[in-house]
Amino acid sequence: MSLLHFFPLKDLEVVAAKNAILRLADGRELVDVGGASHGAAIVGHCHPRVVEAVTQQAAKVMHVAHLYPNPARTAFLEQLHALLPPDLDKTFLGNSGTEAVEAILKFAGGATGRSHFVAAENGFHGRTLGALSVTHKPSYREPIAGMTMDVDFVPFNDVEALKAAVTADTAGLILEPVQGEGGVVPGSRDYLRAARDVCDDRGALLLFDEVQTGMGRTGPFLAASHSGVLPDALSMGKGLAGGVPIGCAITRTDIAERLPAGFHGSTYGAAPIACAAGAAALAVWSDEKLADRSASEGRRFLAALGDLDHPAIAEVRGLGLMATVDVKIQPGPILKAMEQTGFVALAGGKRGIRFLPPLTIERQHLDGAVAALGAALG
Ligand code: PLP
Repeated sequence: MSLLHFFPLKDLEVVAAKNAILRLADGRELVDVGGASHGAAIVGHCHPRVVEAVTQQAAKVMHVAHLYPNPARTAFLEQLHALLPPDLDKTFLGNSGTEAVEAILKFAGGATGRSHFVAAENGFHGRTLGALSVTHKPSYREPIAGMTMDVDFVPFNDVEALKAAVTADTAGLILEPVQGEGGVVPGSRDYLRAARDVCDDRGALLLFDEVQTGMGRTGPFLAASHSGVLPDALSMGKGLAGGVPIGCAITRTDIAERLPAGFHGSTYGAAPIACAAGAAALAVWSDEKLADRSASEGRRFLAALGDLDHPAIAEVRGLGLMATVDVKIQPGPILKAMEQTGFVALAGGKRGIRFLPPLTIERQHLDGAVAALGAALG
């Protein structure tokens, strides 16, 4: 196999997918409660409206560069901005969450003329050089030590540490409103408000990475809504185009005006095929009231996880359909045992079993995931 070894391949060849169900080459079925899609199947796998939109767009025009207006792109941007706070009115379109993070870091550097960043311990923002520079996990950064940017990491939810770290040299402070890979840890309202104040005071940009939390994962379209704090720029990705690669770097007009033409680019960013998929996914999101579903099914799921009440469980946390169960034992064998009974979750934090299911998932599959975790814990 010529694929690089960075991710050891599982013996689970996926040949088809529908909503939360993956069908394997050997005929078995798995329920994707986040492990297979890494949370990107917000509207489920292969939603028929997304499939139809992609099929139709593919027959018209799959790709033209940013310079050429296209109706699919116009429609997607209109729908996206109808769901975003009105002040955040400008978007750069790229191809992944990581790319969106790279873009907002550049926005901060370009708009302030500074190059120092502050990021949170246990934060995750991607693996390319800029995104990796603000990603905390040392084992990700150490193999390329010396190639990363000037970043100070501060403990998450610690206001005093923020005040000390963000200075008049800081271009941006980047935070996930709810840490994802760090273990589903919400930023407190006071913390996120303090982050806003500190950035305003020092002239730094407040950057929210909503690649994992966006599009209703925690209930509202943006997790930022829980605190009412508006960032200066925002990254989104994952499920925004219903399973087709996309990344959005969003900011305000007055910040965009500080960046020159040609400041950033991407051949495939804004590709009509991704935009058509995105327009369909956002229509599904609104029509199927997935914000409400995330909040209500999330509450029910969290309560069911809490009811497991097993001595190996340290803590259950969650917001919307983003949940984690911290365990006192190694999570790897638990995830493996769940997989054997047909449910794929993912690791998160130090010892967490993390769930990022489609917001469209059937209730019976969430109940099944809780039972599978209970059985795996033994
Ligand atoms: N930012 C956050 C908060 C993420 O959770 C992720 C991926 O999990 C990324 C950025 C990177 O996104 P992608 O891997 O889709 O490029």
